[in-house]
Amino acid sequence: MAHTVPDISLNDGNTIPQLGFGVYQIEPKDTAAAVSRALEIGYRHIDTAEMYGNEAEVGAAIRTSGLDRGEVFVTSKLNNGFHRPEDARKAFESTLSALKMDHIDLFLIHWPLPTRYDGDFVSTWKALEEFRRDGRARSIGVSNFQVPHLERLAAEADVVPAVNQIEVHPYLTNEQVRAYGDAHNILTEAWSPIAQGRVLDDPTIVDIAEQVGRTSAQVVLRWHVQRGDIVFPKSTTPKRIEENFRIFDFTLDDTAMERISGLDKGETGRTGPNPDVFDYIPA
Ligand code: NAD
Repeated sequence: MAHTVPDISLNDGNTIPQLGFGVYQIEPKDTAAAVSRALEIGYRHIDTAEMYGNEAEVGAAIRTSGLDRGEVFVTSKLNNGFHRPEDARKAFESTLSALKMDHIDLFLIHWPLPTRYDGDFVSTWKALEEFRRDGRARSIGVSNFQVPHLERLAAEADVVPAVNQIEVHPYLTNEQVRAYGDAHNILTEAWSPIAQGRVLDDPTIVDIAEQVGRTSAQVVLRWHVQRGDIVFPKSTTPKRIEENFRIFDFTLDDTAMERISGLDKGETGRTGPNPDVFDYIPA
């Protein structure tokens, strides 16, 4: 069972496969083929978002896969223009109808947008609590939340997010936010786990990859899962989709783990925007 993906328990009793397949920046016309390939290889967790514009194609690929709905863990995320509770309710219904599903496994607030909506992401979160209560979202969580945002939810809301999906890779190890998650039973999902390819030529990563006889991408993904984070690398190349799945039949020793963690560049290591100031709302 060398390739079995572990299921991890969420704080609400549900489980999530630790490795999934991300579909950010996959064109809708290419999405069904990529997701179908991933499902054939054995991925059972797909990470999409309203903002990615490819929920319908994700749903179609799952329907035609021959797998039962219950075998595939599906995540989507609330788009940035829909934080007011009445808009969030409509957006969530659009997600379910695009996917053609009666429930979703995990629904996230995509960005906290602290400079928008008078800084109110709490009422948005309370709308997600409704979706969980009525069973249409089995689990709910957040994405790109910084520690003060999580502290505010802890003070003002009932449900603790099951996950916080944040940028994490060797150039941005994001320890402070991860540590808050650890302490409060919020799992970290690491987005852009290979920094969109930027860490793959790093001499330290290349050296470790040579030592263990694996590719750079496999080494970095393995580093994430040994840290306990959830990952969903994206690729449209069948060979790479398969390569990224083969990370459960080798281990990295403590020295290799520490060398990779030591590549952290802090804020300058980000590939994406800083959530404290990001305020993009799609037209
Ligand atoms: P990633 O780190 O997964 O890198 C993807 C890129 O790396 C690909 O486009 C490809 O060029 C390259 N690549 C993939 N596998 C490779 C391999 N084996 N060898 C060489 N190159 C390879 O970046 P990502 O797509 O930004 O992040 C993964 C997922 O995280 C997304 O698809 C999405 O689901 C999620 N995400 C979420 C947010 C958020 O705000 N919540 C933001 C970005 C991404």
